[in-house]
Amino acid sequence: MRYDVLILGGGISGLTLGYSLLQEGVDVCVLEASARPGGTIWSERKEGFLIEHGPNTALLTKQAHLDLFQSLGLRERLAFASETANHRFILKDRRLIELPMSLRAFLKTPLFSAKAKVRVALEPFHGRAAQEETLAEFVKRRLGQEFLDYAIDPFVSGVYAGDPETLSVREAFSKLYGLEARYGGLVLGTFLGVRERKKRPDVAKVKARLFSFLGGMVELPLALASHLGNGLVLKAAAHGLRPLRDGFEVSFRQQGVEQTIASKRLVLSVPAYEASRLLKGLNASLAQKLQAIPYPPVAQVALGYRLNAFERSPEGFGFLIPKREGRSILGALFSSSFLPGRASEGFALLTTFVGGMRAPSLALLEANGLADLAHKEVSDILRIKEEPTFAHVGKIERAIPQYTLGHGEMIKAIEALEHSLPGLHFLANYRGGIALGDCLANAVDLSAKILRQRSSRPV
Ligand SMILES: Cc1cc2nc3c(=O)[nH]c(=O)nc-3n(C[C@H](O)[C@H](O)[C@H](O)COP(=O)(O)OP(=O)(O)OC[C@H]3O[C@@H](n4cnc5c(N)ncnc54)[C@H](O)[C@@H]3O)c2cc1C
Repeated sequence: MRYDVLILGGGISGLTLGYSLLQEGVDVCVLEASARPGGTIWSERKEGFLIEHGPNTALLTKQAHLDLFQSLGLRERLAFASETANHRFILKDRRLIELPMSLRAFLKTPLFSAKAKVRVALEPFHGRAAQEETLAEFVKRRLGQEFLDYAIDPFVSGVYAGDPETLSVREAFSKLYGLEARYGGLVLGTFLGVRERKKRPDVAKVKARLFSFLGGMVELPLALASHLGNGLVLKAAAHGLRPLRDGFEVSFRQQGVEQTIASKRLVLSVPAYEASRLLKGLNASLAQKLQAIPYPPVAQVALGYRLNAFERSPEGFGFLIPKREGRSILGALFSSSFLPGRASEGFALLTTFVGGMRAPSLALLEANGLADLAHKEVSDILRIKEEPTFAHVGKIERAIPQYTLGHGEMIKAIEALEHSLPGLHFLANYRGGIALGDCLANAVDLSAKILRQRSSRPV
């Protein structure tokens, strides 16, 4: 059996690429190791609550996202976050303080001291660093320690479950880094960048709408999988690959049976540690770099409460907790406050996050211990008077790849291998952004690239 394109990994990246190529008449096959499509994306309805194991929402930043949902028949299934999601909170001294979203709000907020605000105002007067910096180094240098502690640190926990002391600002926050590189500062860059962005079709992240689907995020991979039909093979774990004169051969095991499959092009859309295993015999140095990418564990604890259990029902997107506050959860989403259908009438669903780079061992506690810990923290912070009526713990042991210092070198090594082995491609969330929207955009871009290459230089 020989396909035009073989994709290893049926997470959202691999599925979107497979679907996009299929739409253009390409003979494509996706091999997925597990019994269901979607990778870290999975939603479940339990006891009247709709819970997520992976992403809860994503940002709609591109028209291409809407086009994709339209062609999958998902436009009517989109569930946008309500306006209340614009209210986000940070915990400081046991109090939730709303994150300021305007200059006026920033000047008035008790989240930062007057000294910290003056320090932020002096941002344009700081020069550039000579070498690659961590996010923490970059923010301390430009904006000061307090801004790092009470704005960036919790934000990084919310996006990467990461640690600003290890993430590379250039690789993990390339837009932020670009403001300094391009305009000499963040304040000036934000101001000038707005004018430039108006000329581009993309929506700025601060203005983009947050979405999920009526049945949860899982609707997206399930729709992609159903369109792929027999082009998606589940329970098929690839364990070896070999370049051929005019393509690739992959060995995989499906339900205990050894098989091989050949293709003209091969796309690795598996996590970095799996790509590392597959590449060991082909490029040991790149395999080592891929293996070194940290993937901390994350647990999501969904807690359902009667609305009467709250002194004030939770309204807003949720809250994040700076490391300095010394709590054992990273934060919580007020899921039922901003998305429809997450809890039955009279109930609220909170989704709390535990672990990440900050406290990896906590994410690995047993389920009852995690549920108790999450309830203890949220009931203290939100003054909840009752026990939850529902608790569900989901754990992902290797959750989110961290773009740490040196990540850029690894990307260059990937590019060099792609160059030396035409027809081999890497597509996964350790390259080009971890957000679901980035994964969709990268898959659509790679599909276009493969189609261009096929028409100009057939492999
Ligand atoms: C807990 C959590 C919360 C998140 N929250 C958000 C959020 O709110 N918003 C947002 O935008 N993003 C969020 N993300 C990030 C986003 O969901 C992911 O980056 C994205 O889903 C990754 O997709 P992927 O296809 O690149 O990788 P994966 O989902 O990891 O898919 C890789 C696939 O490869 C398969 N595979 C592995 N080995 C093999 C093999 N040998 N052979 C065949 N198949 C194999 C795996 O089974 C898996 O299905 C979150 C992620 C996590 C984990």
